[in-house]
Amino acid sequence: MHTVFDDDDLIQVREVAQKFAQHRLADGYMVREKSGYFDMDLLREMGSLGLIAPELNEDFGGIGAKFLLSGVIIEEIAKADFNFAYAPLLGSLNGQILQNFARPEIAKDWLCKVTAGEELVAIALTEARGGSDAANLGLRMEREGNHFVINGEKTSISANQIAKAVVTFARTGAPEDKAHGVSAILIPLDLPGISTSKFSNCGQNSVGHGSIWFDNVRVPAEFLLGEEGKGFVQVMQGFDFSRSLIGLQCLGTARQTLNETWRYIQERHAFGQPLSKFQGITHQLAEFDTKIEAARLMCLNALWLKDKGLPHTGEAAMSKWWPPLLAYESIHACLLVRGHAGYSEDLPIQQRLRDVLGLQIGDGTAHIMKNIITKDRLKQLTAG
Ligand SMILES: Cc1cc2nc3c(=O)[nH]c(=O)nc-3n(C[C@H](O)[C@H](O)[C@H](O)COP(=O)(O)OP(=O)(O)OC[C@H]3O[C@@H](n4cnc5c(N)ncnc54)[C@H](O)[C@@H]3O)c2cc1C
Repeated sequence: MHTVFDDDDLIQVREVAQKFAQHRLADGYMVREKSGYFDMDLLREMGSLGLIAPELNEDFGGIGAKFLLSGVIIEEIAKADFNFAYAPLLGSLNGQILQNFARPEIAKDWLCKVTAGEELVAIALTEARGGSDAANLGLRMEREGNHFVINGEKTSISANQIAKAVVTFARTGAPEDKAHGVSAILIPLDLPGISTSKFSNCGQNSVGHGSIWFDNVRVPAEFLLGEEGKGFVQVMQGFDFSRSLIGLQCLGTARQTLNETWRYIQERHAFGQPLSKFQGITHQLAEFDTKIEAARLMCLNALWLKDKGLPHTGEAAMSKWWPPLLAYESIHACLLVRGHAGYSEDLPIQQRLRDVLGLQIGDGTAHIMKNIITKDRLKQLTAG
């Protein structure tokens, strides 16, 4: 489906992503999820097609593409495998952070591997005490000569057992400094003193999600991202990007499910007629189709604003709370239209429902997104 945001490059890359997703990912979605397996060979294949973080500079393995392009790719990947779309999502989010705040030689080393699909980098902000009040974090990081020494736990981290490094936020200043006493650092996950655990979740099992413990972990100081004590304030801006991408990830999965359901209601009969003759069904699908299209344009618009260098914090927060909710609601409705078959593990609908649910929480809940939208809109009104 084309939009006002499309140009020829976007359309071409979308076709490449679509082919890869439908031919290489779709069939194995449920098998990978059930066995909790993330296929690194498929990720390398995706990297070889240039489908991971193409917006990065050429030095870092990208092609300097528009941010919009990554949104379009993630949407296509999520139509086939919602969870596999975490790889380009993390690639883009951490790609921006490393490109902008890491030493160039460290950024090059890691990002060339990320864009090639050879390695994943995770991001760790949440702690057991709570994720919403993100600046109020307690993980400590002390400077000792040329190293930082880290002790404590991060929890609820996506891809924590398949990533090879993690962008981590830790306190280097006093607790009362709140966001201003927090630094960001890239931590290779093979350093001594690191251990991980995996949660038993109701979805997103193939990418996995859990805790990372740091026991006197010594990280070379050159792995610091941004300035000491300013990591939170500087690096958090990247989340505006990932929020729009998450919206498209959820909507891709919702669109696929809705399209399958439009086809199904023409084939399935009840009371001597195809289901497509019952307006109780078609009007509900028509409403979801309208909302999914509107939400999709909203996410693309946030990315377009980012491409133009225009403010988009409010738009990105909108893209993070509504699309995951809408995706969940529309997939739920489609599941019911399939009757008992929709409830069975023979179809991917129940799996998609459990997978998209996670992103109503991950990367910030709807409550927090609405707080961000409120702050953004009030600031705009005050500024006149
Ligand atoms: C699938 C998934 C993937 C994730 N991936 C990552 C990851 O890769 N890295 C990472 O660091 N974290 C990740 N998280 C963690 C996620 O960011 C946190 O779970 C989230 O920020 C909420 O934190 P919490 O669970 O501690 O809930 P809490 O902060 O304890 O909040 C509990 C409830 O209170 C509400 N609430 C809190 N404060 C307010 C307020 N001011 N106003 C109104 N309501 C409020 C919340 O919305 C929520 O409903 C992931 C979580 C999930 C489910």
